[in-house]
Amino acid sequence: MNCIICNLNCHKTADKEIFYCIDCKHFSYIPETLNHNSSFNHEALSDSLLKIRKKNAHLIYKKFQNITNLNKKYVEVGAGKGYLISQFLPNAISCTAIDMDDTFERELTEKGIDFVHLLDHEIKDLSMYECFLSSHFLEHIQNPDQFLKLLNRSNVEYLVIEVPTNDGVIFKLSKILNNIGLTASWDRMFQKESNSPHFQYFSNKSMHVLFQNNDYQVVDRLKLPLVEKVPNFKRISATESNLVSFFIAIALPLLDMLNRLLATSDVVVYFAKLHK
Ligand SMILES: [Zn+2]
Repeated sequence: MNCIICNLNCHKTADKEIFYCIDCKHFSYIPETLNHNSSFNHEALSDSLLKIRKKNAHLIYKKFQNITNLNKKYVEVGAGKGYLISQFLPNAISCTAIDMDDTFERELTEKGIDFVHLLDHEIKDLSMYECFLSSHFLEHIQNPDQFLKLLNRSNVEYLVIEVPTNDGVIFKLSKILNNIGLTASWDRMFQKESNSPHFQYFSNKSMHVLFQNNDYQVVDRLKLPLVEKVPNFKRISATESNLVSFFIAIALPLLDMLNRLLATSDVVVYFAKLHK
């Protein structure tokens, strides 16, 4: 098995469906069985997760403001409710949200964001856009390199890509727990039970390799919190086991605090520019 990012040899892990590349430190989830027709559905997010996504969207916008002028044609793939692209709307030439899920179509178009309902699984051309935005999209793709090739072919000048990474303490602790047989939080990290699993867990290196291989240069990075600062003791989800509920509601905010102390993060935004 070769690494999906750098094409070097991949290694098996304690989890027979997860492969690890020593060279670029990338984790790939290759499920034995896969539900093909639902891979782009949005994850069900709690209110506190939606709140943090909204806050993070604003931080991303502020950062991008320091990189280049905001007067651009933006596209966001997997836009959902449009938290990220909405930030760019006041200064944009145009904003387009592409999604397979049309739940928020009306809400987006009323705001002035064009909506493209992706009916098949493939986007063929993005050449009408200057800046590509995505938040928690790339990890749901089985071949991110192929997607970056499309962006390159389309001459999209700027990329703003938020992904969960394996450099943070939450991922690392889940990995340790998994190694001693406590698989719940590890399985949750890859969203194995969900209809849109995380096929990728990027490292800082694998993101750089992915960009480099496709003529993109990372111009800046932004480390973001995964969850709200305050532990949510009340939150018990009907869809999660007790251990996972505990982990999400109480342990995650504390671990995210530890991330801040260690200057690591479980979620990172990459800002990249095309250099052909
Ligand atoms: Zn690799």
